[in-house]
Amino acid sequence: MAVTSHASIKSRDAVSTLADRWPLLGQRRPLVVYLCAIVALDLVAIVVFSATTVFQWRDALTFTALMACGAVCIEATRRLGMPAGVSRDLLSAWWLPVALLLPPVYALFAPIVLQILLQVRVRATVLYRRVFSSAAIGLAGCTASLVFHRLVDDPWVLSQGSGPPILFAVAAAVLFSLLNIALIAIAAHTADPDMSWREVLWNRESVLLDIVELCLGVTVSIACGLNLALLLLALPPVVLLQRSLLHAQLQAAARTDAKTGLLNAAAWQREADTEIVRARRTGDSLALLIIDIDHFKRVNDAHGHLVGDQVLVGVASLLRNQLREYDVVGRFGGEEFVVLLPGADIDEARQVAERLRVGIGRMAVPVDDTLVRVTVSTGVALMSVHGDDLIDLLTAADLALYRAKELGRDRVCIPAVPPPPPPQPPPPTLPNDTPTP
Ligand code: GH3
Ligand code: MG
Ligand code: MG
Repeated sequence: MAVTSHASIKSRDAVSTLADRWPLLGQRRPLVVYLCAIVALDLVAIVVFSATTVFQWRDALTFTALMACGAVCIEATRRLGMPAGVSRDLLSAWWLPVALLLPPVYALFAPIVLQILLQVRVRATVLYRRVFSSAAIGLAGCTASLVFHRLVDDPWVLSQGSGPPILFAVAAAVLFSLLNIALIAIAAHTADPDMSWREVLWNRESVLLDIVELCLGVTVSIACGLNLALLLLALPPVVLLQRSLLHAQLQAAARTDAKTGLLNAAAWQREADTEIVRARRTGDSLALLIIDIDHFKRVNDAHGHLVGDQVLVGVASLLRNQLREYDVVGRFGGEEFVVLLPGADIDEARQVAERLRVGIGRMAVPVDDTLVRVTVSTGVALMSVHGDDLIDLLTAADLALYRAKELGRDRVCIPAVPPPPPPQPPPPTLPNDTPTP
């Protein structure tokens, strides 16, 4: 299996020059083509709709007021920071009214304004991601706007409270969400084809958030149509929701290892401890694996740290995909991973460890014209047999790992359990011993 999830990485020197300056060039070619196509489509839409839209002061004023609300939202949450990677916000509360009430061209401009603010005021992230986000949201908003304006002659009737326009607004908001999700999911899947579509598309939390955004967006649109000043009433609750959402995301980010997305060492230990206490209480079996990449230093030395990092990401992704949802997987440090298998006995643990070893051995990271492959050594320890608490289990698995390395690497070992003590002979009975009554 090739780890196609990763950029076909260029040689060390090329990486440190071109891809460092233009991170987009370090991505897989299909992803680069897709991102460029979406941005180009967005630019064409901007030109076409700008040329055909009749400017009106009312529209410009509404657009400015909604963007100002978005800016206040961003400023009010700025100090909290923003988690790395894909994060969620409630800015749709402002660009959905833009799409519903104003001509489609405004929906193309709204995300550009707010993404620039996010980049300058909150977190300077890789530029191509911001540009792509703006284009994806812009295109989704523009399409929703076109559909809504086809369905209702005058979008401002939304505020009269009659059923059909509100229903159409909800339908347009759903369309906006679906398109936005689809455009981003295609990018995520193109970046990492090993990720299942379900993983890319379906997440209960994010569906819930989409519904909240939709409700907020339609409600703010109605308020905005009634009186622009009502935005002042809508702003505080949206800011509060946005802050608590960010807080939850930052908490989650503090538990994860930024490079691999697995639990970090501290979070893994906390979760593993909880599982161990539960297993002790219920008497269930439980196994622990320590998985260490063999000769990882050689990978770094031969191909550079970026390739090394891609190997780490590949191994982590394989672990996540191959294990059950309730197995606890973490990155313990450097090139070492830890897995807790609740309910597994020694045979099952050994089988799982073997399956992971074979899977990782088959994985390959493309670098120039070659494929980088790695193997792993694994130490396995079983609860109640090799230890009763986390420290004992980790020590036992670490010893087994050490033995796997000594025996030649690329293998799974369990600790050598000391043989049970020989049965004690019964104490000799003296002939004049008399039994006590
Ligand atoms: P062994 O088979 O005995 O485990 O050999 P090894 O080379 O894998 O182990 P060693 O402990 O000698 O080296 C581990 C290397 O892992 C050294 C370190 O530079 C590298 N490393 C640790 N963290 C990271 C990381 O986040 N990214 C990359 N690319 N390399 C890392
Ligand atoms: Mg190693
Ligand atoms: Mg190591």
